[in-house]
Amino acid sequence: MDTTAPVRSSFFESVSAYFDRAADLTNFPPGLLDQVKSCNAVYRIKFPVKDDDGNIVVIEAYRAQHSHHRLPCKGGIRFSPHVTQEETIALAALMTYKCALVGVPFGGAKGAVKFDPRATSPEFRERVTRRYTAELVKKNFIGPSIDVPAPDYGTGEQEMAWIADTYRALNFSAPDTYACVTGKPLALHGIPGRREATGLGVQLGISECLAREEDMTELGLAPGLTGKRVIVQGLGNVGSYSAHFLQKNGAVIVGIAELGGGIYDPAGIDLRRLSHHFKENGSLAGYGSGEFHENPGTILELPCDILVPAALENQITAENAPRIQAKIVAEAANGPVDHEAEKILQERGILIIPDLYLNAGGVTVSYFEWLRNLSHVGFDRMSTRLSEITKTHIIEAVEHLTGRTLESAERASVTAGPREVDFVHTALAETMAVAYHSIHDAWKTKDLPDLRTAAYYVAIDRVCRSYQAHGIFP
Ligand code: NAD
Repeated sequence: MDTTAPVRSSFFESVSAYFDRAADLTNFPPGLLDQVKSCNAVYRIKFPVKDDDGNIVVIEAYRAQHSHHRLPCKGGIRFSPHVTQEETIALAALMTYKCALVGVPFGGAKGAVKFDPRATSPEFRERVTRRYTAELVKKNFIGPSIDVPAPDYGTGEQEMAWIADTYRALNFSAPDTYACVTGKPLALHGIPGRREATGLGVQLGISECLAREEDMTELGLAPGLTGKRVIVQGLGNVGSYSAHFLQKNGAVIVGIAELGGGIYDPAGIDLRRLSHHFKENGSLAGYGSGEFHENPGTILELPCDILVPAALENQITAENAPRIQAKIVAEAANGPVDHEAEKILQERGILIIPDLYLNAGGVTVSYFEWLRNLSHVGFDRMSTRLSEITKTHIIEAVEHLTGRTLESAERASVTAGPREVDFVHTALAETMAVAYHSIHDAWKTKDLPDLRTAAYYVAIDRVCRSYQAHGIFP
């Protein structure tokens, strides 16, 4: 055995360690903390699906419902050949704490199906998705008031549409069936703003953090996003929208890491051109500008101010943590920094913005989509026209008082009522600001060691209080 090899924590061990560290600082009874930490239910299934040649393939899948203190449970579904039951439970636990932190009234859950969606046809993916949904229906592990999945690694709007359609087919007389899953396409009662929600939330969360002048002075950074050099790992849903919104708000994207290689360019990357190249070729090789690194891991270690891992867990471990040059690691993915790496980064004075806060934009907007599906009406339907009429009256009064009349284009832009996406984006911005304030406040006023401990501390406090208010049945 090589005793000099760096220690590697599993994702499950990391989440447990983070929970214990924060729980030890609270005054809740040990039994209650045990209940909050425990995963309430796990459904493990094996089911047959026919491949494209008609052969039977057995697929393994899971759904973990970590907490029932609020219902429905909520959490994404991951398609990957590497998923395990333990990882699914850890991701479900993280969802419980995440929802509590951003005030989304759900228990935590997560689903996973063990196969490689990138190596299979859309027809096969559809059969797997529909069969998995049917298995969840059989055991009452899905439903608008029970458990509501969403996209995660390897899944997106198309899979959510198949889930909604399958659930509806099996529950055709039930009301609210579209609220059984979120992250659906707009054509199937999705909500404008869900697709980009996690990435937008990542930018909003980073901006909140960068706005605290004292914290930035300690890191040797100027406050604000303008001019900050950013490296992003992963150009999927979360990574691409994070990079887009960070760049739009003044950051310079100097590095992008993807499977098969990454690009580093200190002068800044043209994201639109790079994304187009990635879509066309499925790889960043041959992009033609900046330095190409065949090993995407090396990109994470290059000079930048902010490193945004947005791919998978355990990307920064005891092995590469000593070489990270960023001053801030912003966890857009779930669990990208393992427990051992965290210690090393902290000793080196690197600030970590924790996953359970930073990537909560997705579940926040999923909550809005769920509400929209239950109410069967868009957020703009009842107020946009009224807002336009009210603003028009105000403008007319101002025109009358000043004797000046606005040009029609000017008038239209001032009086335009909010679109549904405006409701979604502003409510998300408010959620990210309020949640950052709560963890920052706990960090500083309760003398907690770091932002992650503060985030767990706030979440544990809220879940424990909820259990105490409910009492224990019977
Ligand atoms: P995705 O499947 O859309 O994209 C992930 C991307 O990462 C892929 O393009 C993949 O090729 C790339 N990747 C994988 N391993 C890599 C590596 N070693 N180096 C570089 N790139 C690599 O997944 P996603 O939905 O963007 O999710 C990414 C992370 O964010 C996951 O941890 C997920 O749990 C988390 N998350 C997602 C959402 C959401 O709304 N989709 C919400 C919260 C958290």
